[in-house]
Amino acid sequence: MKAVSVFPHRRQVRLTDEPEPALRSATDVKLRMLEVGVCGTDKEIAACQYGTPPDGHEHLVIGHESLGEVLEVGSEVRALERGDLVVPMVRRPCTRAECLACRSERQDYCYTGEFAERGIKSLSGFMTEFVVDDERYMVPVPRELREVAVLVEPLTIAEKALAQVAVVQQRLPWACPMERGGERHACHRAVVLGAGPVGLLGAMALRHAGFEVVVYSKTPVPNERAALVEAIGGRYVSSETTSVDQLVELVGSIDLVYEAVGASQLAFEVLRVLGTNGIFVFTGVPARKGPIQLDSDLLMRNLVLKNQVVLGSVNAGREDFESAIRDLGAFQRRWPAALAAMISGRFPLHEAEGLLRGRDGIKNVLTFARGA
Ligand code: BGC
Repeated sequence: MKAVSVFPHRRQVRLTDEPEPALRSATDVKLRMLEVGVCGTDKEIAACQYGTPPDGHEHLVIGHESLGEVLEVGSEVRALERGDLVVPMVRRPCTRAECLACRSERQDYCYTGEFAERGIKSLSGFMTEFVVDDERYMVPVPRELREVAVLVEPLTIAEKALAQVAVVQQRLPWACPMERGGERHACHRAVVLGAGPVGLLGAMALRHAGFEVVVYSKTPVPNERAALVEAIGGRYVSSETTSVDQLVELVGSIDLVYEAVGASQLAFEVLRVLGTNGIFVFTGVPARKGPIQLDSDLLMRNLVLKNQVVLGSVNAGREDFESAIRDLGAFQRRWPAALAAMISGRFPLHEAEGLLRGRDGIKNVLTFARGA
């Protein structure tokens, strides 16, 4: 079967022929891959800046944002059957007995760092025709989400972040006042840094959770991402034309920053203007560059005197996949055009290399098969 592979030592990206996987245990499930999204992490792996091939292999089959269709199930698989749509999770647990997180199926919080990630670290990914894995790593998706379910994995990043925000903010009075009719009035202001897919999906999740949302990103208006933000009832502000100090004047006290760009200079500038009792969530992974200058006294004063929390978040657990699937369904009902506009293009496998080297668009997707 064909696959998209990166050979880090040769600095090469190309299609390879891989052996088709077969069921290995009674709880295994075999998928025919339908679609795989191309993300920033894939581009970094293709540029040989990130990623690790499986032990003893020269290449890594990449891809971790995917949608598959069940082809075959092992004799003990109960929750899935042939024809079901599923999104496979990315991370697999480490084997250490003392890793409380991995032993509790929360490998997204793995303590040891010895986890594996399909398509990223030590395990083959999903940019290929067939995939086999244990049913416990597969999350079923309703048919109605067929055209957008490839966005589930990038949305899980925001879902995990929001789940943590909800837990952390239990430390203080945070629930917005009830309005008549039982609806809660939007009383929290969120700033999303970056208008890539993770930022835009995060903006949708925040709007859906009742936040006022401003997306702060480089590209000047008008642009397609700004239009998408407006379509979901958010506001788009360009960092080219609006400084961080002007941003805070515009927004008012910032309760939450959801960082989804991986640019530390901008992120720490915005941390400087985080509001009282505010929470700042980092999800971007910056490339290693030189050190930057920070007013660390000011940041530390603010953290203490304003009860602020800074949180980093990576990967996602099963419950985050499940909430992403629920939310994606809600986005589709609420903002069908904006959600469809997230997927900028669908391309055949042989265009993978060009997509990985960079191409315009919000989310580019490789298409393998149409499925049933
Ligand atoms: C993926 C995560 C992964 C992270 C770090 C992200 O692009 O969505 O699943 O944990 O990269 O490797």
